[in-house]
Amino acid sequence: MRTHTETQVLDTVIVGGGAAGLSAALVLGRARRSVAVIDYGAPRNAPAAHMHGFLSRDGMAPGELLIVGRSELQTYGVQFTQDDVVDISWRGIEPGFVVELSGGTTLTARTVLVATGLRDSLPEIPGIQELWGQSVLHCPYCHAYEISDQPIGVLGGDVREMSLHQALLLRQWSSDVTFFPHHISLSPDERARLAARGVTVADGQVSGLIRERGELRAVELDSGQLVPRSALFLAPRFIPNDTHLTHLGCKTGSTGFVTVDPSGATSVPGIWGAGNVVDPRAQVIGAAAAGSTAAIAINGYLVEQDVESALRSTQSGGALYGI
Ligand SMILES: Cc1cc2nc3c(=O)[nH]c(=O)nc-3n(C[C@H](O)[C@H](O)[C@H](O)COP(=O)(O)OP(=O)(O)OC[C@H]3O[C@@H](n4cnc5c(N)ncnc54)[C@H](O)[C@@H]3O)c2cc1C
Repeated sequence: MRTHTETQVLDTVIVGGGAAGLSAALVLGRARRSVAVIDYGAPRNAPAAHMHGFLSRDGMAPGELLIVGRSELQTYGVQFTQDDVVDISWRGIEPGFVVELSGGTTLTARTVLVATGLRDSLPEIPGIQELWGQSVLHCPYCHAYEISDQPIGVLGGDVREMSLHQALLLRQWSSDVTFFPHHISLSPDERARLAARGVTVADGQVSGLIRERGELRAVELDSGQLVPRSALFLAPRFIPNDTHLTHLGCKTGSTGFVTVDPSGATSVPGIWGAGNVVDPRAQVIGAAAAGSTAAIAINGYLVEQDVESALRSTQSGGALYGI
């Protein structure tokens, strides 16, 4: 495997080695680019035992996908380092960006792809954190099939429209769905829509989750009533891990996420974003696709930079070099 020293200028540093980052690294490595992937080992879906919806990998453990992905990268000389990227800055001159790791290493790169994912902010209800990714879930397409026909709860939350949509949606997997409005005050129209879909409503504040052997058994209301449920769905607040992008000056949109063009290019030349850090809707397969798309765009950008540099060199009397 090639190793990259602090003095070498890399073509690309990829910050974040989840589905998006590793997929980008594969494409760039196969394009014979010098690439380093830095990851501190906290992919978003780590709490889940199984990953679903990824064609040919359905049901695989999330960590297994990353192990296989990292081993594939070795063939192409991509360097993988487990560390925390603490800063990315522009050197002020070409080529590029300085990437600082918490371990003290500094890398220089012509381009940077940020694929650092997002954090799910959960409501403060006793038991929720412990059951997250097991019986407390957010994505029906990822995990509802496995609990088909069981008693399912849906928690009303800050993302009101999403909570109500989840309740209507989950009825597809079970005839026993209860909506817990919790802090939401339902309108008559909303109650009618839930009833029309066969979703029952359990009014009152949710005060806790009753667990047994690591699984949800019931949702407890502040009245003391226990509503037996096997799973509880909720809509978390998505918080992008985009500090590095915003510090570099990348523009954000009305959703609060950094905006990228269809290739993943941010508003700062040489900086790309892919996966959940710029797109909360991306599932694993979508994040991987975004990483691949960004990698192709980054390679094209590097080719253009090389051509421009060679032309400048020719015009100033230097020799044209091969790319
Ligand atoms: C509980 C749960 C279950 C899910 N189940 C499924 C499922 O079954 N199927 C599905 O398609 N989707 C599922 N998802 C969604 C899935 O997690 C995301 O689609 C996917 O993780 C997005 O990939 P990503 O590469 O953008 O981000 P991530 O996979 O989160 O990868 C980001 C990486 O960046 C690294 N990182 C962040 N900051 C830094 C830094 N400063 N320095 C170094 N490294 C850094 C982290 O260590 C992490 O490995 C689930 C999500 C959750 C929460």
